Amino acid sequence: MICVIIGGGAAGMFAAIRCKEKHPSAQVILLEKTNQLLSKVRISGGGRCNVTHHCFDPNQLAKHYPRGSKELIGPFHTFQAKDTVAWFEERGVVLKTEDDGRMFPITDSSETIINCLLHAANLAGVDIRKQQAVQSIQKKNERFIIELKGSEILADKLLLATGSSPWGHQMAREFGHRIIDPVPSLFTFNVPSSPLLDLAGIAVSDAMIELEGTSLRQKGPILLTHWGFSGPAVLKLSAWAARELHACGYKASILIRWLASSSQEEIYQQLLQQKQAHPLQALPPRLPRNLWNKLLSQLSIDPAAAMGKLSHKSLSQFAAKLHADRYLLEGKTTYKQEFVTAGGVDLKEIDCKTMQSKLVPGLFFAGEILNIDGVTGGFNFQNAWTTAWLAANAIE
Ligand SMILES: Cc1cc2nc3c(=O)[nH]c(=O)nc-3n(C[C@H](O)[C@H](O)[C@H](O)COP(=O)(O)OP(=O)(O)OC[C@H]3O[C@@H](n4cnc5c(N)ncnc54)[C@H](O)[C@@H]3O)c2cc1C
Repeated sequence: MICVIIGGGAAGMFAAIRCKEKHPSAQVILLEKTNQLLSKVRISGGGRCNVTHHCFDPNQLAKHYPRGSKELIGPFHTFQAKDTVAWFEERGVVLKTEDDGRMFPITDSSETIINCLLHAANLAGVDIRKQQAVQSIQKKNERFIIELKGSEILADKLLLATGSSPWGHQMAREFGHRIIDPVPSLFTFNVPSSPLLDLAGIAVSDAMIELEGTSLRQKGPILLTHWGFSGPAVLKLSAWAARELHACGYKASILIRWLASSSQEEIYQQLLQQKQAHPLQALPPRLPRNLWNKLLSQLSIDPAAAMGKLSHKSLSQFAAKLHADRYLLEGKTTYKQEFVTAGGVDLKEIDCKTMQSKLVPGLFFAGEILNIDGVTGGFNFQNAWTTAWLAANAIE
């Protein structure tokens, strides 16, 4: 059996290793267009490679995917984050978990992951061919004809793992697959009119950010930046609202709920109680002091004023601001640690038990080429490992 895998990224490499380990007598050829394998792994996680996430319940794990969550439940019952950890550990790479659940190699270096994958591929006997730009692919009499510059390969099975590359999408289209429009996911918000830009660096740990007029909202830390807002809640919203934000050209009204767990009425009652209990004192900050003072100043309330001097109207206005502070989103900035493409091969045309095309027998897909993407935290590599594992297992 000859199996050709196109794309030397995380998904292609992982699939090639599994395929060759499972079928030592098969010829497994990995074709990479550039002269570098695993280039995204190298730069991932700020050079540390956030390999996966410490979430070992398949159903919970699947909830971290704005696209693909339903379809990944089954695959995660076959190969999930725990299996990724075990796979690397069996090959001498120990992963550690950070406080937020992200898992990295203990060396804090993506080179460790790259070396492990390359070593496993060589040991298994994967035929790795770099700088191989595939020109075209056709299927004739059950076999795939892969045309390269000046040569061609005949393959029994073909796995496309070309990430978000338009070429891969085009190949899938030529085989009759529908491509869900690719749009960016995982970015930070540009809010040039924000009066908080000079507070860059301040983080609010338990806030909520919402796309006004929709039910799209995310809770978690928000970081004030020189250009607007970042932090886990913002990145998660950028993923869950990737399509809506793309459709409006990244111009939208956003609401920040600075005290995410309280309603406006609760905030107001708490301010009122504090005023009654300590009329001679200033309002005690419930957010980082500079931010708290700035929000008060925007309503022309003196942060140093004794609470007894604050009118009920002022307190009510402040409660409203803490509950729903409105900003104008005017663009996006790429998040350097991790960004992905939402969109890709429509999952309706894929058998998610095997990652095989329902339209073209023998054609498989894995990784970011599929219409699957996760939030930040190691979930995107987990998708690559899982779908690659399933595809490789199904290639007989
Ligand atoms: C800066 C950055 C940091 C990231 N950090 C993380 C992280 O820490 N954790 C995480 O979970 N996710 C992270 N991600 C996302 C993650 O890198 C991707 O989801 C993942 O790499 C997808 O793997 P893939 O194999 O599907 O695609 P890719 O890694 O994109 O690999 C596709 C490969 O196919 C090759 N190719 C394309 N066209 C052809 C062709 N015609 N012929 C031959 N080869 C071709 C490409 O050159 C490439 O090598 C990060 C992304 C970026 C951009």
